Amino acid sequence: MDFDELEQYRTGKSEEGHDQFSVSLKLDEDGLIGRECSNEDCETKYFKMSMTIPDEMENVIGDFSQYELTCPYCGTLDNMQHFHTTEQIEWIKSMMIRGIHKTFQNMLGKTFGNRPKSRGGMFSISIEYKKGSLPSVRHYAEEKLKQEVVCDKCIFNYAIYGVSFHCPLCGKGNILQHFERSLETIKILVSESERIGKEHGARVAESMLGNALEDVIGLFEGFLKYAYRYAIRKKHTKEDAEKLIQKIRVNFQRLTGAEEFFRRDLAIEVFQNLTVPERESLELSFAKRHVLTHNLGLIDEKYRDKAQRWERVSSELVIEPDDVLTALESVRKVVSYTLTEIIPV
Ligand SMILES: [Zn+2]
Ligand SMILES: [Zn+2]
Repeated sequence: MDFDELEQYRTGKSEEGHDQFSVSLKLDEDGLIGRECSNEDCETKYFKMSMTIPDEMENVIGDFSQYELTCPYCGTLDNMQHFHTTEQIEWIKSMMIRGIHKTFQNMLGKTFGNRPKSRGGMFSISIEYKKGSLPSVRHYAEEKLKQEVVCDKCIFNYAIYGVSFHCPLCGKGNILQHFERSLETIKILVSESERIGKEHGARVAESMLGNALEDVIGLFEGFLKYAYRYAIRKKHTKEDAEKLIQKIRVNFQRLTGAEEFFRRDLAIEVFQNLTVPERESLELSFAKRHVLTHNLGLIDEKYRDKAQRWERVSSELVIEPDDVLTALESVRKVVSYTLTEIIPV
């Protein structure tokens, strides 16, 4: 069959004798193409990646169009051709349908266009063919993704939603890279707080430090939750995994909560690398965060008991840069250890 417009994409025939076409996907303004994980159970699925292979990976990859990609979110390994997005497939389908319509219209036009109506005999048959409008080609645009990443192992460039566990090209674990980047952001906030304080007053600096401490604890909770979900989904059926995951609720807002979940369900001791004083200090940081988040930053009895020193109830909790940096260091130890246990780097 002659596919007219599609002809330009024809590459020959498959072994089974089917017509084969090769369509280049459009790069977005950042030079990336969209990809979608083929694993039905993958939660996020969509990411974008560069079509430029880093020099070091050239030999490893061979035919890029048939390369096995790794889903950055769930780690599924599959042929590049199975990572097309729904939108891309719809676009290709619409081009095929338009091509087929056009071909049929031309064929019918040629066959019936000027044929005289048959006359005489018992009855006459009249076939008229009118050219209809062709179905239009569906357009698509890639989604905007905020997190652009350069893999620190193979320097491949890609973009994702939030955080990911793997580089799609080399497949190596890269969640630590995201975590480190988040920690760096908090460190900048802490180092800038002094300058902001001089410029806008101590209150603003204190508020900045309070936010930074809340962010540190937020990273602990967020990354551990993410890691737990990833590992549980790898280990259990979808149904069982969801049941376990639902039980997390606010449990990772407490050190003992996170400890129990990881110990019981994954046999990981998340605090393995913390000394007793470090753990106690982190415990206190969690209590501080509670005061900041739930009590307008005013000391309550619960906090005073935890701090084990006399502080006036309802007085303002003061956060020093060192409070944030110490908590940050402990969270770095705990989360890095746990992430590496789940996905060896
Ligand atoms: Zn996936
Ligand atoms: Zn990589």
